[in-house]
Amino acid sequence: MPKQEVMDRTVGFLKKNLETMPQKKRLEYLNQKLRGVIQYAYKNSQAFKSKMDSTGLKPKDIQTIKDLENIPITKKTELMELQKKNPPFGGFEGVPVTEMRRIFISPGPIYEPGEIEFNELGWAQGMYAGGFRPGDIVINTFSYHMVPFALQMVDNSLHRIGCVIIPTGIGNTEQQVNILKDFKATGYCGTPSFLLNIAEKAEEMGFDIKKDLNLRVGFVAAEMLAESLRSKLEEKFGMIIRQAYGTADIRCLGYECIKKNGMHVPDDKIVETVDPNTGKQVGPGKTGEIVATTFDKVYPLIRFGTGDLSILTETPCPCGRTSPRLLKILGRVDQATKVRGLFVHPGQVDEVASRYPQIARYQIIITRKDQKDEMIFRIELKEEVSQPEKLKEEIGGSIRDVMKLRGEVLFIPKGTIPEGAKKIEDQRSWA
Ligand SMILES: [Zn+2]
Repeated sequence: MPKQEVMDRTVGFLKKNLETMPQKKRLEYLNQKLRGVIQYAYKNSQAFKSKMDSTGLKPKDIQTIKDLENIPITKKTELMELQKKNPPFGGFEGVPVTEMRRIFISPGPIYEPGEIEFNELGWAQGMYAGGFRPGDIVINTFSYHMVPFALQMVDNSLHRIGCVIIPTGIGNTEQQVNILKDFKATGYCGTPSFLLNIAEKAEEMGFDIKKDLNLRVGFVAAEMLAESLRSKLEEKFGMIIRQAYGTADIRCLGYECIKKNGMHVPDDKIVETVDPNTGKQVGPGKTGEIVATTFDKVYPLIRFGTGDLSILTETPCPCGRTSPRLLKILGRVDQATKVRGLFVHPGQVDEVASRYPQIARYQIIITRKDQKDEMIFRIELKEEVSQPEKLKEEIGGSIRDVMKLRGEVLFIPKGTIPEGAKKIEDQRSWA
């Protein structure tokens, strides 16, 4: 009998003492880790030292997460430019290249110093929180060559938990179905869309997905996960599916726990949300760019700007983990518009609209009246509704809930919003 059938996937921690630390203790812990990596990177990473020197900062000036605000953000474009000027790593590496165990190449191209010994915690914490347990037999369908994700991050993390890995890589859907069946594999790592391909292929091959396959747990990343697709797959397979977020350079920055309540920041990173124009922290509850710092010594990125927007929250999670959480990734910084000092992103507009099946088409208009920004949510309904005022009020509530802003809701006749209209139309004039 497979051991995993009797274990509870919904409770427990990979690193209980770290994951359940009281918030004050967590802050002290992170500040201490931060001081360590700042000292280390200043001494060993040429690119970081030049950055500090150019602003006149010394390692002793960075004592706390708040002090991080003084260090300029490193953007991906800067990373690429410096790599070109000073190949291969632009001086961002923290150990000599001859000491590295692996080196990876991401699209860009960007060269990534690999691990000496893999000690990244985030993905493993995420997989465990999402239900993976020792003894799970897992197909890893991410691509194994060049890029670091499948081998360095997913494979190593599964091993850390104690799972058995079948490194299947991408494609070969029919063979993957047979592998799942023959090994009674319990775990899946890959994109949500490839899991759907597997489901469809299995059905085409005449299998009863729940009876003939044994998938119990899935870890998905690298793609937006629509809630409708998640529930469809969870229902089809009878499995738990959780997602995580990160980048190739700085690895895991957030993972969902079983409560599906935003994404917990792993205990080996510092994540700030900042105003991309000033680099200042916006604090919990407000939209900002995700900027991250890792404690990794091989590749010690400090204040790396991801270009993604999200909101941090510190409210307690019922799973017992005390780390802050990123509420969903809202989209890219360069697509966002600032309204009354807060970022509004097309993804948020979609989220509000997705809550109401009565909505056919929609668009947000931003205007300026009496020196104040005004936001109007223009909506074409599929058909007339019996209580339009009540619906308007509900949508207004969702706007406040999702965007943390007040907006006027306006029902407009069908065909008013032009084809190809922008989701957020900024009509403000600053003259
Ligand atoms: Zn949680």
